[in-house]
Amino acid sequence: MAFYHINPKPLPDGSYEVHKEGCGLLVPDPERIDLGSHADVQTALDKALTFHARVTPCVHCGA
Ligand SMILES: [Zn+2]
Repeated sequence: MAFYHINPKPLPDGSYEVHKEGCGLLVPDPERIDLGSHADVQTALDKALTFHARVTPCVHCGA
């Protein structure tokens, strides 16, 4: 299990990055959305899609 977050700022293509807890690219922003703990990234992305129409896993942490 890992804890996942959504970055508050969208990428240039309009999608929002999903990160694992501890990722160096995850900004310590109070407006980031916490997705809670997930067994794998797919359920985290499914939950992220309830907040934003387009989400993408972070290439750095492999979320
Ligand atoms: Zn990341």
